[in-house]
Amino acid sequence: MRSVLIIGLFFSISTAGEILFKIDKLSYDKLPEIQKGNVEIWEWNPEFTLGVCDESEVPDGYDIEILDKNPRIEHYFIVKLIEDNVDLSKYKKYADVLWKKGNLLLVRGKGGRPHDLKIRAEIKYVRKRPIKFSLIKTPFPSLRYTNPLIEEMILNIDSATVYNYLLRLQNFVTRNSHHDSIARATEYVFNQFLTSGLDLVYYSYAGEDPWGSFPTNNVVGIKYGETDSALIICAHLDATAGNPYGVEEIAPGADDNGSGSAGVLTAAKAMAPYTFHHEIRFICFIGEEQGLIGSGTYADSCANAGSNIIGVYNMDMIGYNSGGIEDLDACDDNHSPSQFLVDSLIYFGGEYVPGFPIIEGSVMGGSSDHASFQDAGYSAILGIEDGSVQNPYYHSTGDTIGTSVNDFGFMVNTIKAIVATVAELAGVTGVKAQEAKRFEKVYLNLPTIISKPLNLKNITIYSASGKKVGILKKTGIYFIKLKKFPKYKKKIIYLK
Ligand SMILES: [Zn+2]
Repeated sequence: MRSVLIIGLFFSISTAGEILFKIDKLSYDKLPEIQKGNVEIWEWNPEFTLGVCDESEVPDGYDIEILDKNPRIEHYFIVKLIEDNVDLSKYKKYADVLWKKGNLLLVRGKGGRPHDLKIRAEIKYVRKRPIKFSLIKTPFPSLRYTNPLIEEMILNIDSATVYNYLLRLQNFVTRNSHHDSIARATEYVFNQFLTSGLDLVYYSYAGEDPWGSFPTNNVVGIKYGETDSALIICAHLDATAGNPYGVEEIAPGADDNGSGSAGVLTAAKAMAPYTFHHEIRFICFIGEEQGLIGSGTYADSCANAGSNIIGVYNMDMIGYNSGGIEDLDACDDNHSPSQFLVDSLIYFGGEYVPGFPIIEGSVMGGSSDHASFQDAGYSAILGIEDGSVQNPYYHSTGDTIGTSVNDFGFMVNTIKAIVATVAELAGVTGVKAQEAKRFEKVYLNLPTIISKPLNLKNITIYSASGKKVGILKKTGIYFIKLKKFPKYKKKIIYLK
């Protein structure tokens, strides 16, 4: 206790004169110019950047607005209101609004758990540490032909599997991060990861929100690769009905985010039987609704450990169709090092889930777990039904299967597209099952571009239009199938 007091005293002396400042609409690539010397950037999003420095050291040449003094004392939250014309007077007891533009707010907490605060919003807790930059621009992977192993992998992703996972999650009735029910939900995920056959499953410390600890932790399942570099498929498991700091008795969270969590469970089940060049991690986070707490703790610990994370695909709300054919929004929120993840999802999604519309979108304010990874210097994007929330049941007790999750086809296609993309980026190398092993040996070793006619007896050749052809005669694209394993198809180019 005494050492804490000493630290507190030292802190308040050494930080005298510090200010919290804001710069509007700063390009991500500009950040290294600002975060140097004693200037720390705590938050970046396309709309605004928050930094901390001594008043005498504010960066030159930028339009800087000072929002607060002594910024290391109270907590800050970025709040994106879901409804228009919200009466902010009910906030006053718990927080001061330092800045507001449209439905986007920066608020400063006043201490005390705001458990009575009923407000439908997306919340991001501002972590008081300099964000890390990624200056690496990963090139878009060279284009390949569809890999039969991946086509096979995503065949196993169907509505029944997704529905069963989702129903089980909804049946916890509440998955509020402060309710003990969330501990049973994480235990369920833990056991499902084990059942699917992942190599390692564990609980990873989720941290705590400013008002206390959670009854459980994040669940991480790992599929080892040949390298230590990892791809991540994640979602938040926790839910809220609009009062995340309280202990909500009913928060079914079917769309937000039973859908994404069911997506992670389904992806783990589909991918576990295969082998990959890079590691794949499947993670269900908690504490998201309290401001991305679980993912923030995890992502920062990865950065501190120097883990090499190639990219993160976060699924949050992938079950609601707002009308017509629902398209998947791939959101990197203008975080330039993450652009290749959007491009990859659009490209490979198009290859493996033909006809499924995937567009580039944005969630202003980075209000889901991918933002935690971006802040830790990693490439990360979000897959979501609508970048700006359309679901009327969002953060309410009505977020249930049937009304709030109304499009299992969309959900299945989303999961397929993300699994296929991650399988491509991680480099699928084989499959554990015996039949496929033989298939792989005979078949995957065939080059995709060939110049000599194939004379294997056990293959059938098809033209690009699907007609059987006896022999390769003309230069062009063909498909070959093994007679014994007709479900596997490989695209080749024949150059005469
Ligand atoms: Zn969510």
